[in-house]
Parts: sequence; C-alpha cells; structure tokens
Amino acid sequence: MEFAAVFTAAHRERHSLTKFSDLNLAPKVLKAIEDAGYESPTPIQAGAIPPALEGKDVLGIAQTGTGKTASFVLPMITMLGRGRARARMPRSLVLCPTRELAAQVAENFDQYTKYMKLTKALLIGGVSFKEQDSLIDKGVDVLIATPGRLLDHFERGKLILSDVKVMVVDEADRMLDMGFIPDIERIFGLTPFTRQTLFFSATMAPEIERITNTFLSAPARIEVARQATSGENIEQHVVMFKGSRRDRAASEKRKLLRALIDAEGEKLQNGIIFCNRKTDVDIVAKSLNKYGYQASPIHGDLEQSQRNATLEKFRNGELKILVASDVAARGLDVPSVTHVFNFDVPGHAEDYVHRIGRTGRAGRDGKAIMICEPRDEKNFADVEALIAKEISRLENPLGTPTEDAPEQEEVKAEKPKRSRSRKRKSDKVDEVKPVETKEEPRQVAAEPEAPKEAAPERQSAPAPSEPKPRRGGRGRREDDNKVVGLGDHLPSFIALSFEERQAG
Ligand code: AMP
Repeated sequence: MEFAAVFTAAHRERHSLTKFSDLNLAPKVLKAIEDAGYESPTPIQAGAIPPALEGKDVLGIAQTGTGKTASFVLPMITMLGRGRARARMPRSLVLCPTRELAAQVAENFDQYTKYMKLTKALLIGGVSFKEQDSLIDKGVDVLIATPGRLLDHFERGKLILSDVKVMVVDEADRMLDMGFIPDIERIFGLTPFTRQTLFFSATMAPEIERITNTFLSAPARIEVARQATSGENIEQHVVMFKGSRRDRAASEKRKLLRALIDAEGEKLQNGIIFCNRKTDVDIVAKSLNKYGYQASPIHGDLEQSQRNATLEKFRNGELKILVASDVAARGLDVPSVTHVFNFDVPGHAEDYVHRIGRTGRAGRDGKAIMICEPRDEKNFADVEALIAKEISRLENPLGTPTEDAPEQEEVKAEKPKRSRSRKRKSDKVDEVKPVETKEEPRQVAAEPEAPKEAAPERQSAPAPSEPKPRRGGRGRREDDNKVVGLGDHLPSFIALSFEERQAG
C-alpha cells in the first residue's frame, strides 16, 4: 500500500492548527521544542513525523529552510528513546552530503535531545579516526556521517551496520550531484532489509526516483512547496552588467557589488555573496575588506577548522558578510540572513534556488540581488525558466561603466590550489581562466567529501555556448531540472495544508 500526502485547501484549517503536542512525540522532545521557541510544526514536520513514528518509510520532498531536519530528527529520537545503544552497532544512521550539513544535523540532534540521554558520533572528514572509533566502540544511538567517511570506517572493520533500525538520507539530490549515489546504494545494502528509511530530497531527478523505488517500501510521500520559489517573502532583483572594457570588467563588477551593498544601507544586517569560482570567492572577499567591508571567504580549499571558525563568526553576528562557493555554503543554516548577493549567475539554475533560500528563512523577509553579465545570459534564462517568473531588473546604481572612468582597485588573490592563474597587465587582479575540470578524489586532504567522479566546485565556469557539463559523472539530464510539484506553477492551495491519501 502506498501513501501520498497531498495539500488541499479543504484541510487548511485543520492542519494550520496542528500542534507539536498532537504528534505523539516524547514529552522530553516536546520540552526541547518548546525551548527552541517553535510554535507549531512546519508542513514537512506535520506531514513526516506521524508516519515516521508509525514506523513507515518516508519520502520527503523538501529543501533546506522548510524545517526538514527536525522532521526526521524528532521522530528518530522519540523512537530511540525507547531502547539502548550497543557497542559498535549504531541503531540509527543519518547520511549527509557535506561535512557542514552533517555538523548541522548533529547540532540539531544535541538541541532536541537536551533532556534525553542519547549518544551520537559525527563521522566526517577533518576529525581523527581515533576519536570517532572510541565513540563507536562505546556504542552510539545515532551516527551522523558523510557517505565516504562512513564507508572508510566500515572498511576498517570498526563498524557494524546490521543493527541499524532507522536510516536517514538527507539532501539526496546533492548526493547525486556529488557522485555519492553508488556509496548510498552500498550503504543501503549493508543495513538490514527491515530498517526504516527516511529519505529527503529537494527535487526528484529520475536517478533519485530509481533509488527510492528500489530501497523504500511503500513510503509516505510528503511534498512541500519550494520555499524559495513560492516564497513571496524574498525580493529578487538582477542587474544587467557589461564592463566598459574586457580588461576592466572584473574590477568594475566588484565596484558594482560594493554599490549594491551600499544601496541596502542599514537593511543589510548580514549577507552571503555567492561566486561560481573559488578564486572569485577569495578575490571578492579580499577586495571588500580592502574597501572597509567586513567579509570572509568560505570554500572547499580552506582548512576545515578555518571554515568552521568563519561560519561560527557569521552565525554569532561577529562577521557581517560571507563570500561563499555553492559547496561550502551547502547546509549552512543561518536563520537571519537579510541578503543574498549572486556575484555570478549560477551555472545550474537549481543552485539559484538553493542560494536565495539562504535568506527569507522561516517566514522572514529577505532580499536577493544578482549580477548578470552578457556571458551569463543563457544561465539567467534557465533560472527564470526554473522559477517560472521574471526577476525584476535593477538599474546599475553607478550607471553604465565608461572607458573614461578607470578603475583604481588593486587586489591580489592568493594563488589558488589546483588551478592555473594568469595575471593580466591591465587588470591587476589575478583572474583564473577556465581550466579543464579536474577529477577530485573523495579523500583529498582538504575536502574528504569531494566527489569521486567530478569536482562539485569547478575552477572555471563553462562557456555559455558549451552544453552544460554533468555533475557527479552521473545522470544530470536535461529533464532533471523538472521540479516535481514545486515552483510557482504550483497551485497555491497545495502549500496550505495536507492530508494523507491512499495513492493506490
Ligand atoms: P531546516 O529546513 O531543517 O534547515 O530548518 C530551517 C530552520 O528552521 C532552522 O533554523 C530551524 O531551527 C528552524 N525551524 C525548524 N522547525 C521549526 C518550527 N517548527 N518553527 C520555527 N522554526 C523552525
């Protein structure tokens, strides 16, 4: 028997009244939720928690910002509260595509289990095996891991997965992008057939559909509207920009970015600036600091400890501007970001949705401003097609750049790892010319979760005329961009409330 949750206007009222206390969660979990200040469950929580507590498999189609983490952590810890951990045999497993996301799930776990005695181990790169081994040896209730690191532990014979009762796969579409699907399939095979699976993905690419058909049994399917595309609470703008001369375009673009930041004034309390290339992340951060803006870079070539320290400063408000690449920012949960700037149009339209989803979270207002150069126009058209709406054009606050106003800026970038850089005579900033996409093995020192088959953060953007390269070496097909039941084309009633219905 298969269940599907559908949102209908008729049930709006009933479900808008859903309370956490109606969901059969353990009293100690309810107390922690109250401490967190949550008033009522979000749609993904109200939809996923009841079937999860009944022991059913769950397929949650929801992206970050919808409260999806709590939708699997809360039922999981309620169920775990009923048993005890055994040495080397974790009872539950959460798989996340990146270290940051895994660390964030671990934080959520700590927050919601504050009144319970449950143990966890976080198996991610950058943490010594020894430390993780001793936790596993003692016995943990929950293992939170990136797939590669989990398999490394397993292969070292330190871990037995035959007692896993609940397995969570978080951000499966990211796993696909990063080439982790074979690892996930292998891990599924190492856990008991009888395990319960809670599976989350923002979109349902055909490959994801295949995995869920293979490994999930009659799942309750809960689909919530994409916060980013449905959320009218994010004001979206784009500035069409063309440099006065090719050799000045880069510094003029950074000047434009500063003008856009300035124009926001006090409204900009904190913001994330996304760049497509790691080298631009460094250059933009350096340039902003030079002009007196407080900014720090975060990307996959930085040491994990440095990334953590930067994130922590950003979270606690010490740092106002984070300049980030897509991969480094993945899973980043900062509820109160007021602004997202896209220094470039992302090469994959879906990344636009993920990027702007960093603002306007949990019902707050947010603003997203993007710079689009002529070479980005194809990608820009893809973005507008995906979100099914026109992004409002902003005038360049500086006017059209002219050759008479030479740019004085001089910022030197750190020489990037694993990429060739070339300094131009007239623009004194190191610019990285497109280089071939390199394979990045899973266990490279700086970023162990990097994909096995292709680098998720390319050093270079594809030329607009090129066909889009596939990510993860596997199946990102043209029709992968289809958003199932999401986006603005979604009838508005769908986002209102839901009901479980038998799908046949
Ligand atoms: P997630 O989608 O899991 O990344 O969660 C996004 C943010 O929403 C996190 O900061 C959570 O702490 C917050 N959150 C989760 N559930 C609720 C809720 N029921 N009410 C208010 N905020 C929530």
